[in-house]
Amino acid sequence: MFIEGLKEGDTEKLLEVPKSDLHNHSTKGCRISWLEEQIDRKLPHPPEVFRGLEGMQEWFTEEIKPYCSGSEGIILRWEGSFAEAKRNNITRLAMNFGAAEIELVGGMEVFRKLIDGFHQKHCPDTVFEPELTYISLCDVDAEAAKIDQYISTGYFKTIDVCGGENRRPFEDFLPLYRKAEKYHLIRRMHVGESGSADDVRRAVEVLGLEEVHHGIHAAASEEVMKFLSDNGITLHVCPSSNVMLGYAPSYKDHPIKILYENGVKVTINTDDLLIFDSSIENEYLRLYRAGTLSAEQLNEIREFGLKG
Ligand SMILES: [Zn+2]
Repeated sequence: MFIEGLKEGDTEKLLEVPKSDLHNHSTKGCRISWLEEQIDRKLPHPPEVFRGLEGMQEWFTEEIKPYCSGSEGIILRWEGSFAEAKRNNITRLAMNFGAAEIELVGGMEVFRKLIDGFHQKHCPDTVFEPELTYISLCDVDAEAAKIDQYISTGYFKTIDVCGGENRRPFEDFLPLYRKAEKYHLIRRMHVGESGSADDVRRAVEVLGLEEVHHGIHAAASEEVMKFLSDNGITLHVCPSSNVMLGYAPSYKDHPIKILYENGVKVTINTDDLLIFDSSIENEYLRLYRAGTLSAEQLNEIREFGLKG
């Protein structure tokens, strides 16, 4: 049905088929239209292209955040992310949460109750994999000293670092990733979005990453793609995010094609639905319509994302 849906451009069919979303920043994971209904106000839709990560952050802070701010706004947007999982039949969902957000809503216990409540209310059959994320300029030693309270419970399945690449050496993050390894979390990081193929390889080697958020610039190096393929490293790719931030030239020439053809495992994800305004079925559809990958190839990627 998914292949049919792509070929016919039938969104209803695409919505119905089970999908995964494994690169999703929870506070920006809901649809603009869902949020509009909740706050009873029209919100602006994004420009075609942002001025990089900074321009995107600026737009979000000025245009969206004022109408859903503070802990109440965060909680509302979290709920919207689960509502979208239901609407789009996302049966495997990984969402990331910052330690600061957890503290803002009252700490780990309150946070867990809230999130489990939304999961049960909207999509109880969805396999949910919470991810703990840190921004790249965080105080690593201070965060590593506090991380046990979050990850010793087994609630979080993965760890991540986001918020800008190449701001410090990969080695700086070792205190966090050693703790993550101790508690058997899958190690991920945002790398190779603005950074290079070599950055992707270095991050994997230094921090023991099993999976990578973005990693698209690995497509520039056959050697790095072979390394990723040989080591079974999965890249969680977000096409609209890459195109709208200018990290990929277009949907048609998106690096996912080269990665896929070189045997690198990839998944397709939304990144920040509330910003990029393209839900998961639409990400597949955009790549299909651009001729980047065939309907059969996209379906294979979808099925891989569900396996885990
Ligand atoms: Zn991201």
